[in-house]
Amino acid sequence: MVKAIVGANWGDEGKGKITDLLAETADVVVRFQGGANAGHTIVNEYGKFALHTLPSGVFNSQVTNVIGNGVALNIPVLIGEIKAIRERGVPQPKLLVSDRAQMVMPYHILFDQYEEERLAGKSFGSTKSGIAPFYSDKYAKIGFQVQELFDEAALKEKLKGVLEVKNILVENLYHKPLLEAEEIFRELLDWKEMIAPYVADTSAFLYQAVQDGKEILLEGQLGSMKDPDHGIYPMVTSSSTLAGYGAVGAGIPPYEIKKIVTVSKAYSSAVGAGAFVSEIFGDEADELRRRGGDGGEFGATTGRPRRMGWYDCVASRYGCRLQGTTDVAFTVLDVLGYLPEIPVCVAYEIDGKQTREFPTTGLLEKAKPVLEMLPGWNCDIRGIRRFEDLPENARNYVEFIEKQIGFPITMVSNGPGREDIIYRNV
Ligand code: GDP
Repeated sequence: MVKAIVGANWGDEGKGKITDLLAETADVVVRFQGGANAGHTIVNEYGKFALHTLPSGVFNSQVTNVIGNGVALNIPVLIGEIKAIRERGVPQPKLLVSDRAQMVMPYHILFDQYEEERLAGKSFGSTKSGIAPFYSDKYAKIGFQVQELFDEAALKEKLKGVLEVKNILVENLYHKPLLEAEEIFRELLDWKEMIAPYVADTSAFLYQAVQDGKEILLEGQLGSMKDPDHGIYPMVTSSSTLAGYGAVGAGIPPYEIKKIVTVSKAYSSAVGAGAFVSEIFGDEADELRRRGGDGGEFGATTGRPRRMGWYDCVASRYGCRLQGTTDVAFTVLDVLGYLPEIPVCVAYEIDGKQTREFPTTGLLEKAKPVLEMLPGWNCDIRGIRRFEDLPENARNYVEFIEKQIGFPITMVSNGPGREDIIYRNV
């Protein structure tokens, strides 16, 4: 069976933990979009890890991990991550990299930096990992697939042609040193050596795995709000974050995705710019940020402090709907135990009118949160394993949100570890 694990919100919902958990019984874990610009944090018997490119199945020795064609592949980052986990005692993971995945080129990272510099204060808050320039080139049809590394003459020829165009921008728009084809070509030859052991026709592999009835997880990065079509455009990422794109970015039939586990955190956080209706500030935000996640809400890739807010039922209901959610995994509930009362955003007020529908970006900028106060439970709920054993107010909080978003919460996560999970039959 194919299951997708995706985010309902702005990312950082705890997808890494849920994937790591579900990977215990999985045969294959696939990354299908995004690149090394976001990260998953995973805590398990080997320690605490921030993964940026490796699929979250790398800690389970029976899992084959796949980097699908939809991913923005940064080869040195990938190889560095493998080395880093090996150094900490994790066995060499089984890994396949799609021969059709495209590579983040050295100049994509430069262009990301140059463009942020040029935009200065008006920037998109890019992580400068080259993701936007990468996807622009992919769809402009001047990207490089992994398999192109293996035809050196054609590679060199194409690279020269692409750099001719790139250097016009480098020289005239950014006023930076020109890109050298020979230097980049040599770098690509090194990459070829690094990646060669992993390259495969992954859609053929996955097709067979589906035929054989294997358990396959599609691991999403970021969340619905960052989807380029349905999210808070233009403050979005450059590849689709939706489960539906899993079929494209992995190369499997869409009708094989039978379960869509959408992860949503018990409060909100976001990174980068863009409207964030239930955002909180000052001491209130600092306290939630400090207590949040596992050791505070700071970016797994960038270390940036995340923007904080109360749970947003409007955004989450929309986010779950776009994912095609069959199950919601509701995470980080334990963190809210310090609050006597918990505000929840149940509607938006736009131009004096209330709505529960998530609006387009222009209207979103004007939206104000309509908050409802729920009683807190004022205690530590970590270690609890059954829903019935949660304090009544914690159960009410979960049930209230489930009703608001309209999708069943079948998992409640109450701690960062693999064992901190409560299953619910609803
Ligand atoms: P992802 O990108 O969606 O995987 O999210 P992150 O890597 O930002 O994960 C969120 C953070 O919360 C990580 O530090 C996790 O270890 C942590 N985490 C996940 N689930 C829980 C939970 O239920 N409770 C607590 N306290 N932390 C959690």
